[in-house]
Amino acid sequence: MLHKLSLKQLHDGLKNKDFTSKELTGHYLDRIAKHDVNLNSFISVTSEHALAQAQEADKIIQRGEQTGMLTGIPIAQKDIFCTKGIKTTCCSKILAEFTPPYDATVIKKYQENNSIMIGKTNMDEFAMGGSNENSYFGLCANPWDLTRVPGGSSGGSASAVAARLCPGATGTDTGGSIRQPASFCGISGIKPTYGRISRYGMIAFASSLDQAGPMAPSAEDLAIMLQAMAGKDSQDMTSANIEVPNYLSYINESLKGKKVGLPKEFFQDGLDDKIRSKIEDAIEVLKQQGVEFVEISLPNSVLAVPTYYIIGPCEASSNLARYDGVRYGYRTNNPKNLESLYKDSRAEGFGDEVKRRILIGTYALSSGYYDAYYQKAQKIRKVIKEDFDKAFEKVDLILGPTTPSFAYKIGAMTKDPVKMYLGDIFTIPANLAGLPGMSIPVGFSNNMPIGMQLIGKAFAEPEMLNMAHIYQQNTDWHTQIPEKYTT
Ligand code: GLN
Repeated sequence: MLHKLSLKQLHDGLKNKDFTSKELTGHYLDRIAKHDVNLNSFISVTSEHALAQAQEADKIIQRGEQTGMLTGIPIAQKDIFCTKGIKTTCCSKILAEFTPPYDATVIKKYQENNSIMIGKTNMDEFAMGGSNENSYFGLCANPWDLTRVPGGSSGGSASAVAARLCPGATGTDTGGSIRQPASFCGISGIKPTYGRISRYGMIAFASSLDQAGPMAPSAEDLAIMLQAMAGKDSQDMTSANIEVPNYLSYINESLKGKKVGLPKEFFQDGLDDKIRSKIEDAIEVLKQQGVEFVEISLPNSVLAVPTYYIIGPCEASSNLARYDGVRYGYRTNNPKNLESLYKDSRAEGFGDEVKRRILIGTYALSSGYYDAYYQKAQKIRKVIKEDFDKAFEKVDLILGPTTPSFAYKIGAMTKDPVKMYLGDIFTIPANLAGLPGMSIPVGFSNNMPIGMQLIGKAFAEPEMLNMAHIYQQNTDWHTQIPEKYTT
């Protein structure tokens, strides 16, 4: 039952020599072999690499060296992080055969912590999507109901963690891609403050919004993983030169006197009633811990989705210009001339959603439209940020639903991208403002998980993890595992 243990329990077990890293890694590899046929949460399972790392970790533990919290513990990596010598596809045909010559900083940091990379997880192509249905390698199922989506874009990571095919996984969040799949799959996930984690070697979608983060069953697990991932990186100029606190040391603080804002815009019509009622239950649990709640307003948050769908595609169209069939990635077979080499490689290599975003972005950035769309969106981004600044003059944290609905049926949204875009209405504001946001499970409806979101001031990750952890000390939603995957 190793897969029922938290990261801290796994750490203690390894340290006390109750089991070895090799046994633990083998246990998870067996689970992946047994269960992932139906889920498709992994793009690559790096068994050999993992077992070799496990052997090294076991030596370190044997020698009785001071070990980090993640030494010998398997973690899955979203297939958006470059891994030296190991295929990194971003779930696109254009990178289907790409093997990076270097490691992303996040990967390097996990290695330095002697953690085990067990595999690379499925995702929407270039992290564009909210259901994992845009993956070139096929959809990924939600372990709570195989006919439903796991959310996206970090759907593979969420699904793998929910089915306990790994004790934790990484994700990236540009507009909600950690929080929304965490919510759909009943796990915890945090998108830290923009700049908290290096983006070096993380394949770019929209550089001013992209942020990596951990996904795991509990807030305590997230604290341990975030510790390994966070910090200034000389390879990423946007990474913040702010000291990384010891997250675990903050999570047991009393919540007495903490003030939390409930944005009225997040609780209006359109929010599923069952989600509303589960969030209200969670608020009661926090009230018993001494948290005070006040209504606040984020009046411009209604503009977040359209603003994001200008800024995101603009940045994407620029970032994805590098895939030209020349330097690396997919190249068309029989180009007629140089222009057809570019055009056909891109036409054949990118999927529909990625093309849609490149088209929107290129249009919005073209001369004559730049001011009308891109500049305007930047201005609105600023007022959205100012709404948060104002709210945080009165409250410590903001709380609301993560998503307006729960995991929908596979195929339900594919014909209507705008409807899918609107599913990110509560998560996008934090990305636009660069603020940390997290999702934790707060209950079920018809056996499908429901997530609650916390948003903090810049670098308020300790306070958020603290509130989530105390909530989880008083509830057991985060320990629930879908029935098929318990043994
Ligand atoms: N679902 C959103 C989109 O498609 C968010 C994606 C993300 O955060 N990477 O853009």
